Amino acid sequence: MPVVVDSERCKGCEECLSSCPFDALVMREGKAHINEYCQACVACVSVCPEGAIIEIEGGAEEAAHDVRRYKGVWIFAEQREGKVASVAFELLGIGRKLADDLATSLSALLFGASEKEAEELIKWGADRVFHAAHPVFEHFHDEPYVHLLSSLVKEHRPEILLAGATPIGRSFFPRVAARLRTGLTADCTSLAIDAETGNLLQIRPAFGGNIMATILCPRHRPQMATVRPRVMKRGAYDEGRRGEIVAVSADGIQPRTKVLQSVKEVSECMVNLQEAEIIVSGGRGLGDPKGFALLQELAGLLGGAVGSSRAAVDAGWIPYRHQVGQTGKTVCPKIYIACGISGAVQHLVGMQSSDVIIAINKNPDAPIFNVATYGLVGDLYEIVPLLIRKIKEHRGIAQ
Ligand SMILES: Cc1cc2nc3c(=O)[nH]c(=O)nc-3n(C[C@H](O)[C@H](O)[C@H](O)COP(=O)(O)OP(=O)(O)OC[C@H]3O[C@@H](n4cnc5c(N)ncnc54)[C@H](O)[C@@H]3O)c2cc1C
Repeated sequence: MPVVVDSERCKGCEECLSSCPFDALVMREGKAHINEYCQACVACVSVCPEGAIIEIEGGAEEAAHDVRRYKGVWIFAEQREGKVASVAFELLGIGRKLADDLATSLSALLFGASEKEAEELIKWGADRVFHAAHPVFEHFHDEPYVHLLSSLVKEHRPEILLAGATPIGRSFFPRVAARLRTGLTADCTSLAIDAETGNLLQIRPAFGGNIMATILCPRHRPQMATVRPRVMKRGAYDEGRRGEIVAVSADGIQPRTKVLQSVKEVSECMVNLQEAEIIVSGGRGLGDPKGFALLQELAGLLGGAVGSSRAAVDAGWIPYRHQVGQTGKTVCPKIYIACGISGAVQHLVGMQSSDVIIAINKNPDAPIFNVATYGLVGDLYEIVPLLIRKIKEHRGIAQ
């Protein structure tokens, strides 16, 4: 620990207690004592009137030494109703790359689900799967997830730990980071290894999407990050790939609370936006909530889903769950049709990985055309009905 109390000098005045943001200073037998919560922020050092709290030279080197004892890349493979979520395969894609760059192994953690699902994780790139097949994981519940993941990390010491920025990942992952006393970068859009230091470069938008920040966690391990679904591409699937499945016991885990029932949200959305292969999205350019009925007709003909910009959501034209972008959903469909959307950076970060982008906008200088594969300059109320008519004609549907 890089900070210590000199008990000879400490007079027990308790001045230092309130200076610690981590509750790491406590009184023991009339003297200040630093416990295991200390993060070496050294806020207490200048507060002590006796100069009894001292920063030890070489503390940083000690921490760095500890960091080198952590090896391997881990991804958390979440499952719902016994099926591994697609974000897990995306994490395996980026995890494989990071592990190869570090010349280390890639492990997946699967809590619940069957061994067949664990085997799938190997085929998608994992070298090893820690599988806990216990009924406590049937429904998602923070406590057992936090407990088991934290104890596995303490035992095996991975250097990198990734999870999906899904409702499950967002719920329990920060608690794991807090328990392990390490950092966590949420919603990364890119991850890479610093060739010089081997540290994880955790890249994500910051300051309202105006800059891309690269965040480092150089002195603590594991380096933890979440990634939204559809941000990373899946790796290669190899039917013949072999790996190790390690059975993990969760027998001792006794949650204090019990999930009685899980109720699924009833959505008007015909297709889940993040799973949709085609998305027809509308923005302020629709001018009216009724414009979404037109987009719904086009999406219905294409077997797709309806998305929107934040401006349309803020105007109350469509519910928030349709919003694409930095503060909405990240999508990566085969075709994204943006109708009356200008292409603000906060919208682009949520859809620019789409395979094909078709932009319909009456302003030829709209920034959306910078990312569009095909641009249609004109009034969406002329172009969209034309597209609907042509599709119907092509399919022989009565107009
Ligand atoms: C912290 C923060 C987070 C944000 N998060 C998000 C987010 O998650 N998602 C998001 O979308 N935005 C987000 N925004 C808002 C973002 O900055 C933009 O304000 C928003 O995306 C603009 O929406 P828009 O393109 O629909 O509207 P506008 O920018 O007003 O663009 C409307 C476009 O429609 C065109 N148009 C008008 N009439 C027609 C017509 N008849 N036919 C064809 N084209 C027409 C216009 O030429 C114009 O280009 C965020 C902003 C901040 C600060």
